[in-house]
Amino acid sequence: MDWNNRNCDYAIMDTMKTVFGFQAFRPNQESIIKSIMSGQDVFAVMPTGGGKSLCYQLPAKMMEGTAVVISPLISLMKDQVDAALENGIRAAFMNSSMSADEISDVYRMLANNKIKLLYIAPERFAMPHFIERLKTIPISLFAIDEAHCISEWGHDFRPDYLSLSLIPKVFSDVPVAAFTATATHKVQEDIINKLGIRDPFIVRASFNRENLFYEVKPKSRVEAQILDFLGERQDEAGIIYRTTRDAVMETAAFLASRGIKALPYHAGLSSEERSRNQEAFNRDESQVIVATIAFGLGIDKSNVRFVVHADLPKNIEGYYQETGRAGRDSEPARCLLFFSRGDIPKIRYFIDQIVDENKRLIALEKLNQTVEYASHNVCRRKQLLAFFGEDYPGDNCGGCDICTGTVEQIDITIDAQIILSAISKTQQRFGIGHIIDIVTGADTKRVRELKHNEIKTYGAGKHKDKKHWRFLVNELLAQDMIRQEGDPYPVLKLTPKGSEVLYGIEGVKALKREERPAKKKQQGGSDAGRYDETLFGRLRSLRKKIAEEHRVPPYVIFSDKTLHEMCRYFPVTLPDMRMISGIGDAKLKRHGEEFIREIKEYLSDNPGKVVPGGRSADVMRPSAGRSKNKKKGETVEETYEFFKRGMSLADIAKLRNLAPTTISSHLERLICDGRDIDIDRLVDPTKRKEVEKVFLSLGQGALNPVIEHFNGAVSYEEARLVRAWLLRKTLM
Ligand code: ADP
Ligand code: ZN
Repeated sequence: MDWNNRNCDYAIMDTMKTVFGFQAFRPNQESIIKSIMSGQDVFAVMPTGGGKSLCYQLPAKMMEGTAVVISPLISLMKDQVDAALENGIRAAFMNSSMSADEISDVYRMLANNKIKLLYIAPERFAMPHFIERLKTIPISLFAIDEAHCISEWGHDFRPDYLSLSLIPKVFSDVPVAAFTATATHKVQEDIINKLGIRDPFIVRASFNRENLFYEVKPKSRVEAQILDFLGERQDEAGIIYRTTRDAVMETAAFLASRGIKALPYHAGLSSEERSRNQEAFNRDESQVIVATIAFGLGIDKSNVRFVVHADLPKNIEGYYQETGRAGRDSEPARCLLFFSRGDIPKIRYFIDQIVDENKRLIALEKLNQTVEYASHNVCRRKQLLAFFGEDYPGDNCGGCDICTGTVEQIDITIDAQIILSAISKTQQRFGIGHIIDIVTGADTKRVRELKHNEIKTYGAGKHKDKKHWRFLVNELLAQDMIRQEGDPYPVLKLTPKGSEVLYGIEGVKALKREERPAKKKQQGGSDAGRYDETLFGRLRSLRKKIAEEHRVPPYVIFSDKTLHEMCRYFPVTLPDMRMISGIGDAKLKRHGEEFIREIKEYLSDNPGKVVPGGRSADVMRPSAGRSKNKKKGETVEETYEFFKRGMSLADIAKLRNLAPTTISSHLERLICDGRDIDIDRLVDPTKRKEVEKVFLSLGQGALNPVIEHFNGAVSYEEARLVRAWLLRKTLM
């Protein structure tokens, strides 16, 4: 079949809607899909959550033959297959954990053309008989997941991947699409060369994850701080990263002792325990997983609502990858880093163990970058993207603590001078504890013996507590104003930079943070809080129950995004349910009724939620209740959502209980913004052309003369929309 045909655009859109239940493509998905379907190889770098699977699952569904997906993680294959099956795509996997009988079953189904999507592990390509078997069946495409594993330059090199270079050689007329979430330009070249893919269509997507909110908080009693943070997120799943195994165990035990379902994960646990804990997290049985960075590659869970780093990460790349595990479903999620300069020496200690001088310097440089990330007064998103060579346009990302104004810099020069002076006056021969004793005027035996109670700085800082001075010492260490020397009793020494501060040549600043007056559940993105949380709890339990019956992780049934939409729009009929993002025909049939029943029950338990009248009787109108707090932009977006779902202007007005003129003003704005609005759905094309002509001949934008000209045949809304359309055509 020739897919290189514009008529197929419609079929592709239709499959996206009916099979996957999505309303629109995410960036790059459509062009990748079209390339694959026209037989071209693809190389795509897309961030986690960018929606890579759709790029090969959709062609797999539409094209003839079987799509072969190479995926390195056996543990994920079952979930991926389950997710495809849920959408009604015939899928199977083949890996070393299966018995010979199970494998022959799969071969049999392949031979009978029963499988559209086959997941396999890379090592199978080193088995000649496997390739011979594959040659006997029609293959639609090859998709290589985590393609960076073929490159020794990348951070996950797997020798098994090298045998994948056979694919383009043996299957010369089958398109190969390689996907990864991490690849510098150098790694990209390497992947393309090693795989031998031919003149690929290359995509490098933006690394910006709009739905993630980034913030850094000063770390003090970190476990209590985590507990506070979790207090606002009772039902939300998340990951807490710690650097050491001991810290992982302690924090997990601490949280468990406070009644939070938290499990540990690190490389020191037995592999059974690791997979058991991961599984429990995956299935929403454990709310939180406390982990070292060993926890990562195997997570496909889309409803991770937060990632907390309780310790300083070693480098920004790692931090980005780890935070990237939040919000894959594109719903708001939070990335919180607890930062203490006291963590720096611990990491430096590890870095000092690196023998190769060059590697050590690189590691140090990377560490410095994370310190800068946490302590610079620069948009966090801008900083993260800069690491990937991307320039974040705009001055305010609206999704980090800096841009939302929750942090502020303070001058700490005077306090720094007190510390520096105490160090200098005692000949740079004492450690942190003693210096703080002097500054705070502690009456210790050692102070008296050394007569340090007679120096000028003694007690100069007694109005502030030891914690403050400890923070200051850490700050000065990190800013390289002082250094620790000597072992096992390190003493503090001034650096040249420190001397300049002491003598008043330079000043010192530190970031101060002021919590905003507790705004409940502030999250990334603009959708924050716009759903009924009680209903969400109920639907979540239902989802869990169904998932248990089907033995799949809950997010395979419905993503959080899908549930959030149900809790926003209260669908109680099948057609309404079908409008919800993530519900295709198969899922509608399988679970639609059950969720509708639950929503109906909830509505009858809470009659106050219902707005009477017409179709909207069963709908909690977005305008009810919260509308006063809603910003203009949000309500316009809501109109856009409904419009994209195929609703007419009148229907949207009715559903939202707003005047048609309001909706037309929304649409007008959306048109002017260059959004994807099909004008023909709003104004009949012949009529539109007439109206356009009149606007042009009158040479002005006023509506009334145009409406008068048509003598009632053109409504106010229509005139207004055509005017916007005309403006867009002439200006954009
Ligand atoms: P990746 O593999 O790139 O990390 P996934 O393929 O797992 O991302 O997709 C992440 C999430 O986004 C999944 O929950 C998926 O169902 C959802 N998703 C993918 N494409 C779309 C789309 N066009 N519209 C809405 N949701 C989408
Ligand atoms: Zn920002």
